[in-house]
Amino acid sequence: MRLLVTGGAGFIGSHFVHGLLADPAGLATVTVLDALTYAGNRANLPGPGQEPRLEFIHGDIRNATLVRQLMARHDAVVHFAAESHVDRSILDGTEFVSTNVLGTQTLLEAALRAGISPFVQVSTDEVYGSIAAGSWTEEQPLAPSSPYSASKAAADLMALAYHRTHGLDVRITRCSNNYGPRQYPEKLIPLFTSRILDGQTVPLYGGGGHVRDWLHVEDHCRAIRLVLDGGRPGEVYNIGGGTELTNIELTGRLLAACGAHWDSVEHVPDRRGHDSRYSVDWSKIHHELGYTPERSFDEGLAETVAWYRNHRSWWQPTGEARA
Ligand code: NAD
Repeated sequence: MRLLVTGGAGFIGSHFVHGLLADPAGLATVTVLDALTYAGNRANLPGPGQEPRLEFIHGDIRNATLVRQLMARHDAVVHFAAESHVDRSILDGTEFVSTNVLGTQTLLEAALRAGISPFVQVSTDEVYGSIAAGSWTEEQPLAPSSPYSASKAAADLMALAYHRTHGLDVRITRCSNNYGPRQYPEKLIPLFTSRILDGQTVPLYGGGGHVRDWLHVEDHCRAIRLVLDGGRPGEVYNIGGGTELTNIELTGRLLAACGAHWDSVEHVPDRRGHDSRYSVDWSKIHHELGYTPERSFDEGLAETVAWYRNHRSWWQPTGEARA
């Protein structure tokens, strides 16, 4: 299979590509298309000449000419590229609509012309909005709260429209919060970890009662691979089953893992439109494709903290994001 992976130099995309290259079964080649925004890092992938099955293209998913040329020599697409940080979308949503909605539509149009099958759209549980109790199934109407999640919801609907109107083999995944090595330190776990390692305080939103389901990035990537290999056209698959924690519980575990104390925590005003809880029902992907998360949270968190401790040169240049 000739696979095109967008956003493969980012956090989740790079883990997905490393996983593909580590598994010799079936894979012919993988091409990464990435604009290397502030969140993308070429060093997240094997370097030039290190891996003959990997090609890296520095380019933008909104570049229709480039995207059309690339699609013509690929069989399938896994689409990670996005503006992904909620706080940035609250400051200014423009790039979110441009990349996440128009960029996705540009890819879908080119995929249709090139006969791509499948096109896996990597989305998020945030498109469902907040749920006080229980878990959302894939049938739940979308009710996103932030410009980020609204742009992802729009992209999902566009992808489903290309399936319904044109028969394009689109498959959508909606995953809960990921953690692991190489996550840009604007997101909670790497932000808190890197700041604590630098002897700084960490900013906890509101009362810290917001609930998230934390899944190791490798479990997410394994689930995407299952959807790529065996999912059904036009279907949505929720991915979850990590560890559900309030932000204050998570902060306690991070402080313990870093050997720091509660005096490192600074309470800051809550994020606007902050969803109180996300939770997805992932029984569909479990029953259809045999997905079950494998990584224990405590081990995964300890390993992630150790990675940040040992890779200062990777995150120290991101000082502005951690300010
Ligand atoms: P990330 O911000 O770490 O990486 C995004 C990548 O996309 C970067 O390499 C960036 O350079 C690239 N990119 C951005 N705009 C581009 C453009 N216009 N053209 C080409 N490349 C561009 O994001 P991530 O956390 O790895 O998330 C990847 C995907 O997974 C996103 O679609 C996100 O919505 C989704 N997702 C993330 C999480 C999470 O917890 N991080 C959970 C569920 C779903």
